Amino acid sequence: MKIICIGRNYSAHIKELSNKMPSSPVIFLKPDSSIIPKNQKFIIPSFSNNIQHEVELVLKIKKVGKHIDTSFSNKYYNEIGLGIDFTARDIQTKLKDNGQPWEKSKAFDNSCLIGSFLSKNMIEDTSDIEFSLKKNNQTVQLGRSSEMIWKFDELISYVSRYFTLKIGDLIFTGTPSGVSKINSGDLLEGFINSNQMFSIKVK
Ligand code: ZN
Repeated sequence: MKIICIGRNYSAHIKELSNKMPSSPVIFLKPDSSIIPKNQKFIIPSFSNNIQHEVELVLKIKKVGKHIDTSFSNKYYNEIGLGIDFTARDIQTKLKDNGQPWEKSKAFDNSCLIGSFLSKNMIEDTSDIEFSLKKNNQTVQLGRSSEMIWKFDELISYVSRYFTLKIGDLIFTGTPSGVSKINSGDLLEGFINSNQMFSIKVK
């Protein structure tokens, strides 16, 4: 299985990092070794002094497909979850400045938290899902799927032009604004509406 991540999909987050608005989705991958095992803490790696949280809605692919037309994207997922794309921002900034790939900052061990999933039919309106991240009981990120530059169906179609989607593949759909540095002892909790989707301690 593979984890496909979308960068720069919320304009307020593009602004907070002073990035340019992309003309097509920014895509990168995380390997399966980046997944945090269930109930484990996030351990801050020694190579970074600025690990940031990026809370994101996650689509779980249920059907093999390539060159998927946007009008059929809907048939390729029926679960929506929430996760964190942990990012070594200091490393990423250096890589970006040098025009190098982002993997060291985005795909390292334990950089991918996958929370629970909700079945699509449990969600009233998938085009306007509210989700949030609390850090130490304070809401630090709050987003809505309606604010995405590229919506779920467009992302599935676009990604499938380059990568065959397989059953169980995950698409992280980008983070809203409010990313910040995490510290040892922090507690991170993610929500879709009022449903708690994950809870993780930082070590
Ligand atoms: Zn991200």
